[in-house]
Amino acid sequence: MTLAQQDQAVIWHPYTQMQTAPLPIGIVKGEGAYLITEEGVKLIDAISSWWVNIHGHAHHYIAQKVFEQLQTLEHCIFAGFTHKPAVELAQKILSILPPNQSKVFYTDNGSTAVEVALKMSLQFWNNQDTKRLKILAFENAYHGDTFGAMAVSGRSAFTDPFTALLFDVIFIPTPNNDNLESLKAQITKHKQDLACFIFEPLVQGASGMLMYEAKYLDQLIAHCNQENILTIADEVMTGFGRTGKLFATDHLLNKPDIMCFSKGITGGTMPLGLTTCTQNVYNAFLSDDKLKTLFHGHSFTANPVACASALASWDLLMLPQTMQNIERITAQHAAFKSKIEKHAKLKNVRQTGTILALEWQNNTSTSYFSDLRNQLYDFFMSKNIILRPLGNIVYILPPYCITQTDLEYIYQQIELALETF
Ligand SMILES: *Cc1c(COP(=O)(O)O)cnc(C)c1O
Repeated sequence: MTLAQQDQAVIWHPYTQMQTAPLPIGIVKGEGAYLITEEGVKLIDAISSWWVNIHGHAHHYIAQKVFEQLQTLEHCIFAGFTHKPAVELAQKILSILPPNQSKVFYTDNGSTAVEVALKMSLQFWNNQDTKRLKILAFENAYHGDTFGAMAVSGRSAFTDPFTALLFDVIFIPTPNNDNLESLKAQITKHKQDLACFIFEPLVQGASGMLMYEAKYLDQLIAHCNQENILTIADEVMTGFGRTGKLFATDHLLNKPDIMCFSKGITGGTMPLGLTTCTQNVYNAFLSDDKLKTLFHGHSFTANPVACASALASWDLLMLPQTMQNIERITAQHAAFKSKIEKHAKLKNVRQTGTILALEWQNNTSTSYFSDLRNQLYDFFMSKNIILRPLGNIVYILPPYCITQTDLEYIYQQIELALETF
């Protein structure tokens, strides 16, 4: 029996209709930008394995550091205790974040990094005897799949069964030149109730790599600062070089109060989440009153092996060669974008740094569940490329080690797909 057949007997997969989904593809090895199937087929991983991998699969340097850490300390309770990888990682991350960030809170994935950010914001007001229970978020946002993270995400088919249980969120569209003033007015109107404003900076990933301009976000943040509303940048997808700078907030002048990280932080090796905040947010929890404590933690909070893989990934990220690769991918994407963007079958082509998204004209196939989506997915798989369209949107979000040649091959196959579908 193949891996895939054995899988079917015992496993329930994420985001998968198990009745109709084809058998999963058994992967036996990862190497650089490739995943190798049990049949020995080498697939180009053009989506960084659900957006987490940045330096390539099974990277030797990260593996070595993880191995060393495993032989030293594999786990350690993080209440009342600490360890070197957690301390070192917090020091290093803070050294490159906006200078207003001053404390690091550890969790173990992106959704929980968001949960912590929300709890920090809500309790920030609660600890000061101020009742602020509403949250401001963008339409089409995606912040994760746990309940709080789901509540601040845009409503969709995915959240439908739970709608009645999701808490009170005010959704606004992403800002542009035309709506900016009315968005500001809306914020001002609700300012007494708003605990915080959470956003994916510059790129809304899961809703289809929707992009908006830094200068308008900058103005919304400035407005929230003025109205005394906390701001949360969810950098879970955009962090660690994805947008061409180390962080998406590096494109902004105004800095958020709270930031969330996961995905690429460990190079995609281990699960790890991180929420950072300003001294001002942190101070609101300091008290002789024990009830003002942030009562939150996970069994694997700040796991030493996860922190060690993040430190190793950090070393690789800081190599001049990595930034050169990010710049090369950005330039290659830009050249392909200008070549293809007038194509009759494309409604829109957009790019931020290493992310390139192509939106197919949507005659009948607008949704995530469209046939076009499956046809495109199968087409690229038949060309040994993993591209996982979001509805009619095909996007490339590659590990930074992907070669120029492999990227060119992907572009060629996209052009072929444009002739075919
Ligand atoms: C993926 C993602 C999350 C959730 O992270 P998980 O580790 O999958 O829970 C949160 N926010 C953004 C912007 C994401 O892209």
